Amino acid sequence: MLARLFRLHGLLVASHPWEVIVGTLALTVCLMSMNSLATSSQVCSWNECPKVEEKIHSSDVIILTITRCMAIVYIYFQFKNLRQLGSKYILGIAGLFTVFSSFVFSTVVIHFFGKELTGLNEALPFFLLLIDLSKACTLAKFALSSNSQEEVRDNISQGMAILGPTFTLDALVECLVIGIGTMSGVPQLEIMCCFGCMSVLANYFVFMTFFPACVSLVLELSRESREGRPIWQLSQFSCVLAEEEDNKPNPVTQRVKIIMSLGLALVHAHTRLAAENPGHNRTADGPIVKRLDSAGPMLPLKLTSMDLEQVITLGLALLLAVKYVFFEQTETESSFSLKSPIISSPSTQRPRVTGDCCRRDLPALNSPKITNNISASSSSSSSVSDSGASHEADAGFREKDSCTTEDTQPPAASAENDLDPSGVTDAPSPAPVSQSSCNSEPRMLEECLRVLSDPQKGASFLSDIEVMNLVASRNILNYKLECVLETPERGVAIRREMLSTKLPVSSALTGLPYKDYDYSKVMGTCCENVIGYMPVPVGVAGPLLLDDKQFHVPMATTEGCLVASTNRGCRALSLSGGCRSRILADSMTRGPVVRLPSACRAAEVKVWLETSDGFNLIKDAFDQTSRFARLEKLLVNLAGRNLYIRFHSQTGDAMGMNMLSKGTERALYRLQQLYPDMEVLAVSGNFCTDKKSAAVNWILGRGKSAVCEATIPAKVVREVLKSSTAALVELNINKNLVGSAMAGSIGGFNAHAANIVAAIYIACGQDPAQTVGSSNCITQMEPAGPDGEDLYISCTMPSIELGTVGGGTNLPPQQACLQMLGVQGTSLDQPGENARQLARIVCSTVLAGELSLMAALAAGHLVKSHMTHNRSKTNLTESPSSESAA
Ligand code: NAP
Repeated sequence: MLARLFRLHGLLVASHPWEVIVGTLALTVCLMSMNSLATSSQVCSWNECPKVEEKIHSSDVIILTITRCMAIVYIYFQFKNLRQLGSKYILGIAGLFTVFSSFVFSTVVIHFFGKELTGLNEALPFFLLLIDLSKACTLAKFALSSNSQEEVRDNISQGMAILGPTFTLDALVECLVIGIGTMSGVPQLEIMCCFGCMSVLANYFVFMTFFPACVSLVLELSRESREGRPIWQLSQFSCVLAEEEDNKPNPVTQRVKIIMSLGLALVHAHTRLAAENPGHNRTADGPIVKRLDSAGPMLPLKLTSMDLEQVITLGLALLLAVKYVFFEQTETESSFSLKSPIISSPSTQRPRVTGDCCRRDLPALNSPKITNNISASSSSSSSVSDSGASHEADAGFREKDSCTTEDTQPPAASAENDLDPSGVTDAPSPAPVSQSSCNSEPRMLEECLRVLSDPQKGASFLSDIEVMNLVASRNILNYKLECVLETPERGVAIRREMLSTKLPVSSALTGLPYKDYDYSKVMGTCCENVIGYMPVPVGVAGPLLLDDKQFHVPMATTEGCLVASTNRGCRALSLSGGCRSRILADSMTRGPVVRLPSACRAAEVKVWLETSDGFNLIKDAFDQTSRFARLEKLLVNLAGRNLYIRFHSQTGDAMGMNMLSKGTERALYRLQQLYPDMEVLAVSGNFCTDKKSAAVNWILGRGKSAVCEATIPAKVVREVLKSSTAALVELNINKNLVGSAMAGSIGGFNAHAANIVAAIYIACGQDPAQTVGSSNCITQMEPAGPDGEDLYISCTMPSIELGTVGGGTNLPPQQACLQMLGVQGTSLDQPGENARQLARIVCSTVLAGELSLMAALAAGHLVKSHMTHNRSKTNLTESPSSESAA
């Protein structure tokens, strides 16, 4: 409930940043201009105003100076830690938070204590000491992990929901605890505590209002969509949502804080009641007011005493600022390069590794020199030097490397394999080196945790075995390895190491590559628990002459003959003047299931949804969730008291499943507000229908509905396809139409559309599971031409589900294949045009595939060609396998 409240608050603030910023500034200005309270005794309303001597003691000056210095050092370290994140956005946002918080705080202080600015000298250090940048940065990270402005708002509200209650409780507890000091009777302490409380309140106020509004606005203004990704989106924050969700505050601690704050509130109430007794009242003249008012006569004394203070404080601040600006950059850079094994420094600059290093940097093995060195130092007599043998060397290396493979062996066992500095003098720097020597046991968990959480060190200072120990003890979650370690590749390597010990064949993973892959594009988007990547051969079919343009179609497959056969179809098409295509419809669908108390009530909702008012209301909610998704129609069906609502929407160049899900969820939320007795059973009720064979897709279409046709002259049928029109037409009727009808097929009135769809989908980063619906196709053939010797062929595909942005299309190899077709990313002409063009290409390549396979079947060539081109010679005698279906 509370979280929901904060979520709503966050959404409100992030959605109306201008209003909030202007409102906050106006309020602050009002506070500044109102000085009626300045002379009142409310200043110390925590208690009665403490008395302060009009003389400034030297001890006060010392205490204040120390406090100031501490505050400056504290802020310096906070910023230093933030810099480790390597994000200028985080730094900027943290700076903004600090500056504005201190502005509000200063304003409040000036207002409360009169217009004497010297009051700030005392105020600021307390403010700086109490400022909590970590929560502000976490909220900023939530925002920066977004893909779009819409997500920025959602993530800020989610961040608010998670951080808001804790922050509120913390502020309350801090205020009450510090407030105790205002009742101490020690004048200086009372003033300090007043400052402290106000600082906490100002901090809280800024965090709840101005700060999220600013973050939202700044990100909106700096938005520059590049292939759907804003420039500020930072991959290293992609795990922040999950992390924060996992790190929700401990309920026990929260409960203790609540009980504590209740107790403290009682203490305050009691003291305040007692203070209302005039007999106990001290003078109403606020000491601070008095002190500030009396600043004039004391000025000379104050100036002398303040001079020293200010010199020290200013000197320290300048020193740290200079260090931060000029020297931290170099330190950070060097620590980054130390952490990143890929960015290796020349060996001459490499710190000499004394003793054997426990931490094996697996990526460093890419260096042939190192590989050679390892193989030379291994007991094996074989010389491993070429790339073909590098896997063996790699495996051998890791087998010998007790640090990475043998949990029970101390790292010393790997000494013989360690890199001899003299032997690799001009090899790249091997690694972020662990400070622990290989001769020593892995450090204790506590020590490892300390290293891990130390911003100066981090995971690169842990050996692989230490990281594995942390994973085994669940101090690092296995699925977060890529986020926690200094490079995702090391995370993948360690996960593989841990997994290999549990596999029936421990060397099983050596054949699965994992190096030199851009995992940052995968994390949080495409795959989890990554252990490598699957190389699939990619062939090219074409040129395919489609609508007077030529395309070279990439096909990823392991089925021999497929590309060759499609290529033959493309050739036949090219010699026939090409293929013509049209897009019939473009609309992705999502079909949730909702339940109402009765069938009659469900029918009422159905009728309402079918009115234009009902539709427009739902559309309004739906359309707000994306720049591209626009609700086109609703198809509502009913089963008892269950209602199935099929949302239809265009999705620009995206395949659109996530987009539709998001819009549908928002629309259902609106619907539920109107029908509170409606229960949403699932955002997908299989009426979509996604990744399952369904008549609804076949009949009504889903994604792109495309048709293409071609007329093949008799000569080409004869010479290229090695068949005749009559034989092909006859076979098409009996196989693709009657045969499929006999099989009770839905949308399977074709020879092998799925073959082509799957191969293009894998090459072009589509969701391979969507080949189920996307392969719906009816292939028709007729005799054509004056003598009926030519062949007319068409393929109609009503449900091609694909996109050129989002999902796997963001990965570089897949993007390369899309680029081959000239359809990668967002269409510059009109959103959606790239995706529609890809659908046309898929449909016409299917046609090419149909032509060729049908011709092979008619001529009785299928089995022969598969035996020649699609049968593994090595396994032929061992495992005769059935041929792929045709
Ligand atoms: P998405 O990557 O989730 O969304 C597309 C993003 O690209 C949106 O943020 C969109 O902006 C932005 N964009 C930028 N330029 C665009 C353009 N020209 N056209 C369209 N969008 C553009 O992609 P999706 O297609 O909706 O979802 C694909 C993913 O869904 C795949 O990873 C697939 O595996 C997965 N999937 C999900 C489900 C499911 O049930 N949720 C089912 C099957 C597959 P806006 O924010 O303004 O919209």
